[in-house]
Amino acid sequence: MQFIAITGGVISGLGKGTITSSLSHLLVNSGLRVSAVKIDPYLNYDAGTMNPYQHGEVFVLDDGSEVDLDLGNYERFMGISLTGSNNITTGKIYKSVIEKERKGDYLGSTVQIIPHITNEIKNRLRDVSRKSKSDVVLIEVGGTVGDIESMPFLEALRQMRRDGDHFIFAHVTLIPEIGDSMEQKTKPTQHSVSQLRSIGIQPDVLFARLKGTLNAESRRKISLFTDVPESGIIGVSDVKNPYLLPEIMRSQGVLDYIFGRLGIAGLTFEDRWKDYRENIVHPRKTVNIGLVGKYIELTDAYISHKEAFTHVTGKHGIEVRIRWISSDKLKIDQSDLADIDGILIPGGFGYRGVEGKIAAIRYARENRIPFLGICLGFQTAVIEFARNVLGFKDANSTEFDPGTSHPVIDLLPEQHQVKDMGGTMRLGSLPVVVERNTRAWEIYGQAGITERHRHRYEVNPKYIDDFERAGLHFSGKDTEGIRMEILELADRENFIATQYHSEFKSRPLNPSRVHEYLVLKAAEKAGESK
Ligand code: GLN
Repeated sequence: MQFIAITGGVISGLGKGTITSSLSHLLVNSGLRVSAVKIDPYLNYDAGTMNPYQHGEVFVLDDGSEVDLDLGNYERFMGISLTGSNNITTGKIYKSVIEKERKGDYLGSTVQIIPHITNEIKNRLRDVSRKSKSDVVLIEVGGTVGDIESMPFLEALRQMRRDGDHFIFAHVTLIPEIGDSMEQKTKPTQHSVSQLRSIGIQPDVLFARLKGTLNAESRRKISLFTDVPESGIIGVSDVKNPYLLPEIMRSQGVLDYIFGRLGIAGLTFEDRWKDYRENIVHPRKTVNIGLVGKYIELTDAYISHKEAFTHVTGKHGIEVRIRWISSDKLKIDQSDLADIDGILIPGGFGYRGVEGKIAAIRYARENRIPFLGICLGFQTAVIEFARNVLGFKDANSTEFDPGTSHPVIDLLPEQHQVKDMGGTMRLGSLPVVVERNTRAWEIYGQAGITERHRHRYEVNPKYIDDFERAGLHFSGKDTEGIRMEILELADRENFIATQYHSEFKSRPLNPSRVHEYLVLKAAEKAGESK
């Protein structure tokens, strides 16, 4: 089996995920069958319970797994769909080892990190390779080499190479550039590689992060101290947009080098992103989209929305400038939303920021600003309409106000019987039925779509007639017709919201349809006002 492991050194946050994704992109578009695994050495079982402030967005896969946002990058760069087994955490590994121990699977032996934990890791990695029938599996190891948490994983990888699995080890390091002359310093890279070697791993490839271009002298020096041939040292300079990185890596010969190491020949890379990149680098138009959310200090909490907008830019040459607006602070008469061409309200949990979101939706509705609501953005659009059009002044979701006299967003009756909150979440890819002769139909052009979900509350069926009579139309529903999935305003062409997260399936050459629609409507509006 063939694996490429990617570790990180020197400091965290060097863009290991983007480098891994870019490499997968290059391999996939050379005709290889590729899969990718993210190893998160934390003890949480999965990312589902983690606050977006800690690790950014919780990404959702087709099978409903809640995973690290890097898996979103893999899917976007590779154009494939992954499953929960593509994200391994310390929590998952220990849980299954302890469960096996309780069942007596280890036949009375002392259960230890080596070999029991490491064997569990090895089995899972080989399983991914086998089940996905991949030519090569990329394994990104989270954290930085030397962290206690990642030790068992690195040990498992070392053993796999020893066991005969074919491995390429890639290591991501930092080249600081100091002084006016921006002198490139290789010492941290040397140290980081010796740390890796001290645990028995000799890297085959180095990705050196730096601002500028890696010079010949640095390359020579790094090679001398690390035994990595110069052709295996790839400079990763800062880029305006992550989608430009594969080309930067390819232009330095990374593919030929890797094919050489994998022992394969005769593959040619097909560049499917040429026009896409061109539109990103040289957009013809710009729109301002206000994203009103409560985690805006860490924009990675909304990474899939950012990416979806980039996909639209790549398709239409319309650059999207995101104005990050805090839903906590929003005052509507202020300049916050003044020169905005469109508003996006993303998903979220908990009451904080909800009133700001409702105020922003009212502003969008009354001033006919193009609007897209996603998940909580959909639910707050329902609440806003109930309060300000239907006149139900205290309308709310029972998530925020269990005692409201108008619970327009609520758990469905069957959900009330479930005591454990974890069991009530609607997760993963589910079919949505789009109604003909609606705005949603115009956007999707078909009745059957499948989109990813992550929510617990629903539009309360008791109020649907009230909404419909007043002009808020539900143009997409689940297959039973019980859960509302898409809403639009009968008298407006630029106000739409979805209960599902269309951002999760947005891809470079196939953007989320509703994000695309928002941007096109925003561009029309921007054109009118000029
Ligand atoms: N908090 C809402 C719910 O649970 C919305 C969730 C979301 O936006 N992802 O239904």
